[in-house]
Amino acid sequence: MTITRFAPSPTGYIHVGNLRTALFNYMIARKSGGEFILRLDDTDPVRSKQEYIDGIMEDLEWLGLTWDRVEKQSDRLERYEEAAQNLRDMDRFYECFETPVELDLKRKKQLNMGKPPVYDRAALALSDAEKAELRKTRDGHWRFKLNLEPIEWTDGILGNRSIDGSAVSDPVLIKADGQFLYTLASVCDDIDYGITNVVRGADHVTNTATQIQIIQALGGKVPDFAHHSLLTGPQGEALSKRLGTLALRDLRAQGIEPMAVLSHMARLGSSEPIELCSSLDELIAGFDIAKFGAAPTKFDVADLGPLTSRYVANLSVDDMAAQLTDMGVPSVMQPDFWDVARENIATRAEVAKWWELCAQGATPLIADEDKEFIATAKTLLPEQPWAADTWKAWTGAVKDATGRKGKGLFMPLRKAMTGMEHGPDMSKLMPLLQKVNF
Ligand code: GLU
Repeated sequence: MTITRFAPSPTGYIHVGNLRTALFNYMIARKSGGEFILRLDDTDPVRSKQEYIDGIMEDLEWLGLTWDRVEKQSDRLERYEEAAQNLRDMDRFYECFETPVELDLKRKKQLNMGKPPVYDRAALALSDAEKAELRKTRDGHWRFKLNLEPIEWTDGILGNRSIDGSAVSDPVLIKADGQFLYTLASVCDDIDYGITNVVRGADHVTNTATQIQIIQALGGKVPDFAHHSLLTGPQGEALSKRLGTLALRDLRAQGIEPMAVLSHMARLGSSEPIELCSSLDELIAGFDIAKFGAAPTKFDVADLGPLTSRYVANLSVDDMAAQLTDMGVPSVMQPDFWDVARENIATRAEVAKWWELCAQGATPLIADEDKEFIATAKTLLPEQPWAADTWKAWTGAVKDATGRKGKGLFMPLRKAMTGMEHGPDMSKLMPLLQKVNF
């Protein structure tokens, strides 16, 4: 069975960048009838917050990306300790004592000499007595000892990859304060939960190389990895600094529809055109990870606006009934009202503005030179209720009385009735208007 996971650290909200990871893993699981796990990578007790856990779940629910179960790394510290002991027993785990400042100095020296800044394994040469001496003044951290050989995998997006173990620093798996780092926790979880496919951002490629060796050392089965490209801004600029403003909750607050975000994200960066889908099932059916490319993917938040208005315009009156009823639109009027409003709104929330116009009337917009004309038109305005042919009959009568025609006839009447220069077909709008204020 296919088992995937979305593994956010609850140190922030979901943004468009990590949404791709969530969506791809979700679609892979659902497409094959497999399982999708929400895994909270919360081993950092200071930065992980309950409010982010709640926020992540709320955002996934908003999108409809339902998970089969939730796992928390903070519940599994004993398991990680057991794995660490296993690695110690097989001589693949060693204690180091360099401070961050010392490590930084080493890296700078290596770079100055034109060498890659790979950890030099100096700690491996420490005797037991030297280690005991060092422990008196500082706490040790623990590194996994990589085998210095090529680490190879076939990436679902990047193709055949090979990273030489000697080009990568032995990863730190336990910090000096005893905190298990994500790399060890993630590997234990992926093994224990039987994760078959891991999709994540291209910033994890080196992690993958080291994780493959740790999985193998612990006797686990290496999942299929795929690394999607990172998003950039519309001009190719790094998006990382702006991601804070591209949180799903901000998009939601702006009225962006979940299906607009999902449709965009499910195709962006692939060889398939972006199409507005009406359901997750439709998206899943058309999803194929092999269609995605390795090049950085440009993302423009402005693209979500047109997809949202198209999605909203496609909604049926039944889809809208609850919202329209809440706003006070009588059910008999709902079909005609929605027919008028749907093409004239950018977001679902904007429908309220059209109902306000229908129910309260607008503040008329009357130019000085039209005052007399509008006064005449008012005397010719038929009694309510108005019907589909009222606009035609009224404008005909006004035309006969004033001699005006075309735009000079219609525009001042539209502005007086709606307070706007643009808007729906007046013959459709007029029967919905309960009031005019001129
Ligand atoms: N918590 C990690 C992250 O958010 C998970 C990476 C992974 O998918 O393994 O980057």
